[in-house]
Amino acid sequence: MYRTLYSPQGAHINLDGRDIINMASNNYLGLANDPDLVAAAKAAIDTYGVGPSASRNIVGNFAVHDELEEALAKFKGVEAVLVFNSGVAANTGVIPVLVGKGDTIYSDELNHGSIIDGCRLSRATVKVYPHMDLAALEEMLKEPTDGKKLLVADAVFSMDGDLAPLPEMAALAEKYGAMFMVDDAHGDGVMGPYGKGTVEHFHLRDKVTVETGSLSKAFGAAGGFVAGSKAFIEELRPKARSFIFTASPLAPCLTAAALAAIQKIADDDTLVTRLWENRAYFAKRMEDAGLNIGSTVTPVIPVIVGDAEKAEELSARLYEKGVYAQAIKFPVVPRGTARLRIMISAAHSKADLEKAADAIIEITKEMGII
Ligand SMILES: *Cc1c(COP(=O)(O)O)cnc(C)c1O
Repeated sequence: MYRTLYSPQGAHINLDGRDIINMASNNYLGLANDPDLVAAAKAAIDTYGVGPSASRNIVGNFAVHDELEEALAKFKGVEAVLVFNSGVAANTGVIPVLVGKGDTIYSDELNHGSIIDGCRLSRATVKVYPHMDLAALEEMLKEPTDGKKLLVADAVFSMDGDLAPLPEMAALAEKYGAMFMVDDAHGDGVMGPYGKGTVEHFHLRDKVTVETGSLSKAFGAAGGFVAGSKAFIEELRPKARSFIFTASPLAPCLTAAALAAIQKIADDDTLVTRLWENRAYFAKRMEDAGLNIGSTVTPVIPVIVGDAEKAEELSARLYEKGVYAQAIKFPVVPRGTARLRIMISAAHSKADLEKAADAIIEITKEMGII
């Protein structure tokens, strides 16, 4: 069964009744229990109540949805945004609007499950290329096809913390006349200036057809979104099935919290800077100790131990020392690459990071890993 949380998300949590350092949440900026977000959510409950009670296209479009979409579009540097109740719903909703039967999708083998589902729902032909293999991707793009083409990938891969080569991918998309979709669920609030995302980091805004994102990770709330041109967002509104058929649009309180997050980080990069300082410290501690952190360049830091049982044992022994980090194994990652996945947050203090790093190094030494 799952472990149970009896506290808000944060650097320290109450997990199954004990206080523990949390190295497993996507709470990159520590906003999930930020006083400004909590206040915004409470105020929205006073204004709008709790349940949305209708789909956005019927009578569930609250003023705060419009406000968040406007703020997000400005933050992301796009013409328009449509907010969904999750990142999963954004991906499954948008892909079938971009392509359909007779069209072709080019998808990285490690793309997020919701991209895979969106591809299936579209009924387009899906060509899966080996992880980040640009040569293989180009071979596939060269094959003649009828219909539209869509290249789609995660910007930051959530199990390895590596970054897709978006500039090269954008160039290939352009060369072969494909649309280019980027899912930046782990890049928003993390990558680029002020956490504006990986597309901004690479200065590729005019090369990306649509972008999807999540409000549940760095932004500390919940929900998802699609960002693109005004014309495309208007086309999407009446067509995205995960949007029009749900009477659970993003609850007004969560919408208000996400808006408060954007307002908090849009012109103050304190949290983003702290996140990267924490990330640099922790990655260096792991590397200096001789641990294998793979190809990460982001605050997702895998400590790759290979064997699934070893990863489980490392996680269990860390838990006994008051640190929670999840073991990840096959089928989520390939066999032989089982790992402990460390998620760094701006909320971690130096003491938290030191304690977690010391514990990992001590245990991996005892286990003969280093
Ligand atoms: C988490 C994640 C999603 C889903 O977003 P939710 O808001 O959590 O539903 C989509 N894509 C990627 C790459 C993710 O990591």
